[in-house]
Amino acid sequence: MAPVLGDEMIGSDFKISGAFKNLYNRQLTQIYEHARNLVSLRKELIFHHPIAQSLHHSIIMQLLDGKLLSEQIKAELAAEVEQIKMQGGKIPHLAAIIVGENPASQVYVSSKIRSCEQVGFKSSLVRCEAATTQEELLAIVQKLNDDPDVDGFIVQLPLPKHIDEEAVTLAIDPKKDVDGFHPVNFGRMAQGLPAFLPATPMGILEILRRYNIETSGKHCVVLGRSNIVGTPISILLSRKGYPGDCTVTLTHSRTQDLPAEVRRADIIIAAIGIPEFVKGDWVKEGAVVIDVGINRIPDESKKNGTRIAGDVDFESVAPHCSFITPVPGGVGLMTVAALMMNTLKACKGEIYGR
Ligand code: NDP
Repeated sequence: MAPVLGDEMIGSDFKISGAFKNLYNRQLTQIYEHARNLVSLRKELIFHHPIAQSLHHSIIMQLLDGKLLSEQIKAELAAEVEQIKMQGGKIPHLAAIIVGENPASQVYVSSKIRSCEQVGFKSSLVRCEAATTQEELLAIVQKLNDDPDVDGFIVQLPLPKHIDEEAVTLAIDPKKDVDGFHPVNFGRMAQGLPAFLPATPMGILEILRRYNIETSGKHCVVLGRSNIVGTPISILLSRKGYPGDCTVTLTHSRTQDLPAEVRRADIIIAAIGIPEFVKGDWVKEGAVVIDVGINRIPDESKKNGTRIAGDVDFESVAPHCSFITPVPGGVGLMTVAALMMNTLKACKGEIYGR
């Protein structure tokens, strides 16, 4: 409230007309009104103006750019392949098996084959009809196991319902299991022995390493306990060394008061498959957020009526983070890069010898 000009403020020997007093008070009120508007305009500029917001974010939050990192990794791999070629060595060869017409699987496999071309690897794609039987698929797996030119191969998941994924995973020679899904590789990973690490967790480690993010002694909360993401990354980050030495909490659908668990995290890894699930008020100031989720959600503003969303509500979470992965452009691309790294390792016999 603006103060008003009263007789006590004028002094007893100074005569002033009532009209002047009213005019003076009106102007004083207006000045206060302007001052208040200026203050709120300043607040608006600092907190809500897009430029101020992006400045604010660029100071306290950094995007973990999976696109940039995956390009870097591919450039490094390509340089190594060039060296191998010059020395007359064996060119890495990745094979992929795809069963059926699942559109997402088609996209993933094409991106893996394209990446092979970019880095100079040989690649083969085995396309099988959706009606392929388990026996037929196992025979193809055996053929690739026996092919000396194939260094590593993947069977793109999910498989049609009539095929037992576990049986197929078990049939892959662990020495060629560049997806790192075979129990032999999983067990070796858990024991800290040389192993093909599953590609997505390996991509996450590579993000942490390449952005030099401190992990030692940090509290990491992993959302989701799948065998391909949540469980292996929780093991890897709790191992000795860098990136690792974290205190890890592995959460899942039975976890009680998940937001309270997440609020304790210095590093959050979300892999649950529910779009925009993790909210801003679950996140401690300065936390590192790795969003693994790839979910297609409706979006009328897009040509095809959908868009890709992560498991993290980027808009509300990003202002609280020190680092965050975008979706798309984060973990997904690093998964493919990690697969390429594993294929080169397989070719060089780095894990099991040649
Ligand atoms: P799964 O579906 O295999 O597992 C989901 C996990 O989330 C389960 O452990 C489940 O718990 C847990 N979960 C489900 N609902 C909740 C909830 N309300 N609260 C807490 N936990 C919950 O997932 P994936 O690991 O295969 O995939 C997770 C996400 O990551 C998906 O969006 C997938 O598309 C994406 N993904 C991305 C990759 C990439 O390259 N970027 C690679 C692989 C996956 P419970 O065990 O109790 O059922």
